[in-house]
Amino acid sequence: MKKRKLKLKKGAQKNLTIFGAIILVLVIVFSFYFNKINELKSIGYSSEAAKNIIFSFKYSYVIDIGENKTLNAAFESDDYKKENFDSYVKIEYQNQKNLISNINKLLKKGYSDNEVSLIISRGDDDAVSEFANRDKVKYVEEFLSVSYSKLVNYDRYVAYQDKENDDAKTTVLYVNMDFDKEEYEDPTIIDDFDNYVLVNKHRQLSNEYVPDDLVSIDKEYVKSDGEVEIERSVAKAFYDMADAASKEGLELMVSSGYRSYEDQEEIVNTYLNLYGQNYVDNYVAKPGFSEHQTAMSLDVASKSVATFVNSDEYTWMMDNAYKYGFILRYPKSKEDITGYKCEAWHYRYVGKKIAKYIKEHNITYDEYYVMFLDN
Ligand SMILES: [Zn+2]
Repeated sequence: MKKRKLKLKKGAQKNLTIFGAIILVLVIVFSFYFNKINELKSIGYSSEAAKNIIFSFKYSYVIDIGENKTLNAAFESDDYKKENFDSYVKIEYQNQKNLISNINKLLKKGYSDNEVSLIISRGDDDAVSEFANRDKVKYVEEFLSVSYSKLVNYDRYVAYQDKENDDAKTTVLYVNMDFDKEEYEDPTIIDDFDNYVLVNKHRQLSNEYVPDDLVSIDKEYVKSDGEVEIERSVAKAFYDMADAASKEGLELMVSSGYRSYEDQEEIVNTYLNLYGQNYVDNYVAKPGFSEHQTAMSLDVASKSVATFVNSDEYTWMMDNAYKYGFILRYPKSKEDITGYKCEAWHYRYVGKKIAKYIKEHNITYDEYYVMFLDN
């Protein structure tokens, strides 16, 4: 009896040792595992991505690479493909639902890592998904390297360049400005008020487009009968500008400001009766196409000289308007771009920073908008 008891004790002791050893190994393995997870998390990977990185035996590669959002998204995704690992590292991340599956599709079609980066950066998830499902196309790098290019316009770029033979940058700019369409053909309709809104012969304000912060311009600055309304910030900038001009003996005034959709309808009819269709087409904006409906533009006048272009105030405006955030919206040298004959009296408020840029680079607001504000 005694002997057997001792034997049992010995066996139990042995089991206990093995059990202890297993626990110890597990503790080491798990602490090793959790350390690695924490290390990956500390350099920007999610728990889920970190777990998949370890199980794919990519831990040391990823640690060497450091933070990489595309790689993180790939390891979070069911679409992760190990043969695309090096591409994920190089392709610039975009916050898109189908990012990894679209990257896989594009790589499979033979696009380079750089081309894939460009494609996914120039459109939203829908546009990229559509593009990833079509056959491989040429000139991706040529057009999509232009920072303001849009994936949805890709076919229009190709067609426009075939026709006009402009360089890629100009092609992208002009197509984004809808120069491949006739004036007033299939315009973009805008209903939400925005101080930076672009209105031209391709971009129409709906009759619902009404500015929400209109003020009446002080009577002393107005050269017309009745009330002239304008957006609040424009009024303030105009007062500053007119006061500065007045210190030099000049008298800047406003002859027209905000005009509603309905006001513009009336104006078109009046001019049509007076001067005919040709005049109206060249000088009068159709309803919804007038920048005056934005409440961000003004017709400026001189108190003493009837024709503004002949006044000292006009000369002063040419040199100084930008300092107060105003630009001559339809300059003589830019008639092909704006689609309007020069209007020496019509100024758009865009703020000092943009006005300075436009003046220094001798471009129009149409171009500025497409290059920097149209996302
Ligand atoms: Zn005007």
